[in-house]
Amino acid sequence: MQMPIPIPWVGSFVLGALGWTLAEYLLHRFVFHGASARRLGASEHRRHHAQVDYFAPWWQKALAAVAAVAVVWPLAGVVAGGAAGLAFTIGFIGMYLLYEVLHRRAHTHPPRGAYGRWRRRNHFAHHFTDPRRAQGVTSPLWDRVFSTRLSVDKVRVPRRLAMPWLVDACGDIWPVYADDYELVGSAHRDARTREADARAAFANRRPE
Ligand SMILES: [Zn+2]
Ligand SMILES: [Zn+2]
Repeated sequence: MQMPIPIPWVGSFVLGALGWTLAEYLLHRFVFHGASARRLGASEHRRHHAQVDYFAPWWQKALAAVAAVAVVWPLAGVVAGGAAGLAFTIGFIGMYLLYEVLHRRAHTHPPRGAYGRWRRRNHFAHHFTDPRRAQGVTSPLWDRVFSTRLSVDKVRVPRRLAMPWLVDACGDIWPVYADDYELVGSAHRDARTREADARAAFANRRPE
């Protein structure tokens, strides 16, 4: 019988976290924005693009985490052995949970620090400039590797879809964010604009 590869568990944990960032990129690019909007996860994700305050329910995310553990743990155990395989799985799932928190907070909370600023600029360029690029949410690594980086001077945010932290009570952009974002179009949202946003999101186009 083949001996498991002896990888120290700390290295396995880090590799697991890195493994999630690759899974995050591949899932986002090829499943959530893949050819079929009907695939598991794709319709929920495109609904999030159409309606940026919509997030798939927590029970679906918990189910995804359980399914990921069921696949990753046995595989990692075979490759790296019991302890290192478990460390890899904890790194992978831990990073997945962190991704969920960081993605949601990017939408709901203002940036703090350089990483928070980068994460929001990158993710909102993905939402509002080109949903086929900037697929990494927690890291720019895989967009660099696969040449899907997106660099914009200022992210043009449709007023009707503006993140709550970006605008004041009058709907104007807070001056502190004016270097990174500009608001375009009207704040008015009605059935027609909702429909147009859904059409654009399901076709992987940015909102008009
Ligand atoms: Zn988002
Ligand atoms: Zn997306």
